[in-house]
Amino acid sequence: MSVNTLYINGQWRPASDGGLREIRSPHDNSVVVRVSEATQSDSLDAISASRASFDSGVFSRWSLADRCALVGRVADLIDRDAEILAQLESGDTAKRLIEARYDMADIASCFRHFATTGLALHDRIVDVGAANINSVITHEPVGVCALIGPWNYPLLQISWKVAPALVAGCSFIIKPSELTPSTAIYLMKLMEEAGLPAGVGNLILGAGATAGAPLTSDPRVDLVSFTGGLVTGKRIMATAAQTVKKVALELGGKNPNIIFANSNLDAAIDNAVTAAFLHSGQVCSAGTRLIVERSVHDQVVNEIVKRASEIYLGGPNDPLAESGPLISENHLAKIEEYMDRARQDGAQILAGGSRDTRDDLKDGWYYRPTVLGGCTTKMYCVQEESFGPIMTVEVFDTAEEAIALGNDTIYGLSGAVWCNDSEIASHVARALRHGTIWVNDYGPYRPQAEWGGYKASGVGRELGESGLGEYLEIKHIWTNNEPARSGWFADRTLEK
Ligand code: NAD
Repeated sequence: MSVNTLYINGQWRPASDGGLREIRSPHDNSVVVRVSEATQSDSLDAISASRASFDSGVFSRWSLADRCALVGRVADLIDRDAEILAQLESGDTAKRLIEARYDMADIASCFRHFATTGLALHDRIVDVGAANINSVITHEPVGVCALIGPWNYPLLQISWKVAPALVAGCSFIIKPSELTPSTAIYLMKLMEEAGLPAGVGNLILGAGATAGAPLTSDPRVDLVSFTGGLVTGKRIMATAAQTVKKVALELGGKNPNIIFANSNLDAAIDNAVTAAFLHSGQVCSAGTRLIVERSVHDQVVNEIVKRASEIYLGGPNDPLAESGPLISENHLAKIEEYMDRARQDGAQILAGGSRDTRDDLKDGWYYRPTVLGGCTTKMYCVQEESFGPIMTVEVFDTAEEAIALGNDTIYGLSGAVWCNDSEIASHVARALRHGTIWVNDYGPYRPQAEWGGYKASGVGRELGESGLGEYLEIKHIWTNNEPARSGWFADRTLEK
C-alpha cells in the first residue's frame, strides 16, 4: 500500500523505500494511522527543494505584506478546520479532545499574531553625519530552516516556528515527532491551499536519527530550530556547529512553583495541581517542583495529595477524563525507572507512584498523578525532568532560601511565585533565573510575549518580537552617493 505523506517540492509522495510507520494510540495501543517513514535520501531531497526555492526567490522575494497575508490565510484555514485538526491531534496523542481544541485556538492566534506584528518590520536609517551616505539596516530571511518538533504539543510547537519563518520569507523543512505526525501533514495541506509556492515548505516524517539528522548536518541548511529534550538538543547543537548553523533550542525544564504562607492558598493549591498534572505532566513548563513555606507545608501538601489522588484519567473521548495517558510504552518505562530512583533516594510516595489499574485503561500508558514528599535538592527526582505526572515537594523558611532552591537546577524555563506581598513577589520573580515567571498564576502565555529558557533550557526565544528575529538576518547597506578616492595609500601612478 502506498502512503503519500511526505511533502517535497510541492508533491505528496511515499518514502523512497516505501517505508511506513504505524502511529498507535497511547490510550489503547490501537493503530490510528500509517504514514510514510522518510529515508535519509528523502530528507536530502527536501533540503534540495528548500534550498532551490529559497535561492530562486519564489517566496523570499514576495513583499512583506504578501507574506503576512499568506500567514493570515493560514490562520483562517486553521480556524475553519479546527475541529478536524483537534481530532487528529487527540488521535495521535490521546490527549482529551477539549485540550486539543484549546491548542488549535492557540495555534490560530499564533499565526494571526505573526501575520499582524510582522508588518511592523522596517528598515532603520543610521545617521552617519554625511549627506552623501545612505546607511540602512535591513532584515532578510535567514534562509533554509529545519523545524524539528516534539510530541507533547505537536502542532503548537511546530506553529511557533512555521509562522515566523513564513513572515520572514524563509524556506523550511518540517520534521514533527515520529510519534505525532498527523497535524503537521494537515497543516502542510492548509499552507498549500493558502498559496505557498512549491518547494518553500517541505515535510519529512520519521525517526530523529535517520530522517532528522541530515537536516542538522547538511551545509545547505542555515538554521535549525528544535524543540525537544536536552540530550537531543545538545547533539543537534554539536552537529550544527560543524557547519556553523544558527540554532534555536527549546529544551526541557524543572520548574519551581514557590508558595508563600501569605498567598491565596486556595488558588495556589488548585493551580499547583493543574501545573503538575495537566496533560499528565508532559508539559515543558510543568510545575513539577513544589517549594512551599514551612508553616503551611502540611496544609498545602495534604490538600494537593487528596486532589491528586482523585484525578480521573481517561481516553480522549471520555467525558469524565481530567487527564490522559503518557505518550508511549517507552515513556511509561522511563517514568517507572525514574520512580525507582526516587524511591532509592528516599523520596516518600504520598500519592500515586504506579500505573493506573482501572480495567478500561489496561491497554494504555496511564500513570497515576504522583506526589513525592521529603525531597532534597540533591535527589535525582528534584533535579531531572521526568516529563510525567510527578511532583516533588521541598520546604523553605525565607525568601532567599526559596530563591536558592528555585535556582538550584541546570534548567531555566519557567516558574511561579505565590505571595501576597508584592515587594517580595517581585524580588523573587526577578531573582529566579528562568525565562518565564508567573506571579500568583501558573501557565498562561501569549504569542506577543517571548517564550524560552535560561541555562540548559535552551538558546534563543520563540514568540514575541524575538521569535521573529530568530528567522531574520540583519544586513547593513552603506551607499555612497558621491563616490570618491579613499586616498589611503599613495598612488604612485600619479607621480609618473
Ligand atoms: P526528543 O528530543 O526525543 O525529540 C524531539 C524531536 O527531535 C523529534 O522530532 C525527534 O524525532 C527529533 N530528533 C531526535 N533525534 C534527532 C537527531 N539526532 N537529529 C535531528 N532530530 C532528532 O523530545 P520529545 O521526547 O519529542 O519531547 C519531549 C521534550 O521536549 C521534553 O524534554 C520537553 O521538556 C521538551 N519540550 C520543550 C518545550 C519548550 O518550549 N522548551 C516545549 C515542548 C517540549
